[in-house]
Amino acid sequence: MITIDGAEGEGGGQVVRNALALSLATGQPFRITNIRGGREKPGLMRQHLTAVEAACAIADATCDGAAVGASEITFHPGTVRAGDYHFAVGTAGSTSLVLQTVLMPLVMAGAPSRLVLEGGTHNMQAPPFDFIDRCFLPVLNRLGPRVTARLIRHGFYPRGGGRVEIEIAPAPLSPVDCLDRGAPLSVSATALIAGLPFDIVTREIETARRFLDWPEEAFATHELPADRGPGNVLLLEAAFERGTEIVTGFGKIGTSAQSLAKTAAQRMAGFIGSAAFAGPYLADQLLLPFALAGGGAFTTVKPSRHSLTAADVIARFTGQRWTFAAQDDGTHLARRI
Ligand code: AMP
Repeated sequence: MITIDGAEGEGGGQVVRNALALSLATGQPFRITNIRGGREKPGLMRQHLTAVEAACAIADATCDGAAVGASEITFHPGTVRAGDYHFAVGTAGSTSLVLQTVLMPLVMAGAPSRLVLEGGTHNMQAPPFDFIDRCFLPVLNRLGPRVTARLIRHGFYPRGGGRVEIEIAPAPLSPVDCLDRGAPLSVSATALIAGLPFDIVTREIETARRFLDWPEEAFATHELPADRGPGNVLLLEAAFERGTEIVTGFGKIGTSAQSLAKTAAQRMAGFIGSAAFAGPYLADQLLLPFALAGGGAFTTVKPSRHSLTAADVIARFTGQRWTFAAQDDGTHLARRI
């Protein structure tokens, strides 16, 4: 039995999600202790529990100890079954994080699947829908499968109510190299708002324009029906020939619109100034599919703790070692050694 100390490395929910996905994909049971031991409020939260329940549902797996607040679970995977699944994260928890748990096992199942996910679609500390759709899935699809995502309705914390639909056409995974992102194609900055004063997005766009030397038509505001809110995000998107990066600023009480837009814009400018294929978030999310494909490589910025921890969990289940080697051009090359 593989035993993981959930407080090690990054010490968050990603350790649990990657372990569940790897357990389902490799058929090995595991026990995890000190779940989210690196977080202020450790233990499984509602959204992690939904991820555990989803992992059980797609494979008739069993999980001992799964409950809100649990610090230890033991998971026995079954056989992953393709099919139609519907998972709702009761508390506006992130639909993307539930997807991170079940997507790769379903991609490796023998037949197509369809997922309906309900909850938050634009949550702090999680990939927003747009990132899954335009940054992560295009790279995953280069490995072989055909996965498409549709945003049916936005969902913000705390109200939730968002809905995402995913179609999965599986295929054997083949390693690919994503070293060069290619020439820039387009940029856009979209400030979304629902049920909050409109001047928030005006200030976000004004600030982003000061820090990004982008054409005027790249900047836009978008107001959603008030009943979707309250919610606000600023999405900065840069598309290149072979990859797209989205930097997100999440509106929250206590952070000014100007300050979140400045931080997001500076991060986007930093990514554009680098030669990396993958930004910091995409890098930690790509490790799982790349490892399940058995190899390949991608360039990225300096590896985050999430990436290093993902590599550790992957090593426990697969024996593969993934490293990030600094390159002369300032990027880091993620590859299996
Ligand atoms: P954890 O903090 O362990 O729950 O993991 C959070 C996950 O969400 C990681 O896979 C991150 O890459 C991802 N993530 C967090 N913030 C963003 C963001 N702004 N854009 C894209 N992905 C994100």
